[in-house]
Amino acid sequence: VIPLTRWGSLSPVPHAVTSRHGGVSEGEFASLNLGYSTEDHEPNVAANRAMLLETLGVEPDRVFSGWLSHGSAVSEFHSPDQANWPIMRRPIRVGSTRVEAMFRSDGVVSDVPGLHFLLTFADCVPILFADTGRSVIGAAHAGWRGTAAGVGAAVVRSMCRSFSCLPNDIVAVVGPSIGPCCYTVGPSVADEFRRHGAQPALRRRGSQRVLDLWESNVNQLRDAGLRPEAIEVAGVCTSCHADSYFSHRAAGGKTGRFAACIGIP
Ligand SMILES: [Zn+2]
Repeated sequence: VIPLTRWGSLSPVPHAVTSRHGGVSEGEFASLNLGYSTEDHEPNVAANRAMLLETLGVEPDRVFSGWLSHGSAVSEFHSPDQANWPIMRRPIRVGSTRVEAMFRSDGVVSDVPGLHFLLTFADCVPILFADTGRSVIGAAHAGWRGTAAGVGAAVVRSMCRSFSCLPNDIVAVVGPSIGPCCYTVGPSVADEFRRHGAQPALRRRGSQRVLDLWESNVNQLRDAGLRPEAIEVAGVCTSCHADSYFSHRAAGGKTGRFAACIGIP
């Protein structure tokens, strides 16, 4: 059984966030590692992905994952404009015959019925978006670089500009990710936010700097026009709960990836 977390504010949109439980990977990657960009045994990742999609009831050729680059670009999937979907196909490993269909960005927005999107995480912030009235969904992968670059706000802008949504109608969930309890950062982080004209939620704790990625993203989504009560924060720190989630920080780098998925029925 694959444990999944879902949020009432996003229903009836199909969505889920996985944990590290319910898969076949071993060691640092135990057990539901969904990231091909790890040093895990590729067939195990493939088996984990297949089990997840079966649990979600999603056909493998109807799900696209993100080629993540810690930027603020947003891929848009318009219905019924299939010829122009921003998809790239790439072999998963050199010498492998397996091919994965991906979109090349940290943000994605879609109004295509039946299409689903999968982003992978190990401390970075998953943000899921929905305008249920217009049947438009979005997702963002916001690490500190993506947050500084404003990928969450970029998803909101895309929903409004290209899909006729209104910020007032959009709900968002900030999923499990590294919390202010654990996220000490260096001085370059503040510089990166400043370079983008963004304001990080940075605090001092003793001699250390702590970055609150949750608050930084909530502030950004409010500035983008979302109603405060339409933004839900899971408040689950992946580093504190490294027994339940993959955490890059807690593991010292070598770990798996859990996933956030969202789509339109
Ligand atoms: Zn923590």
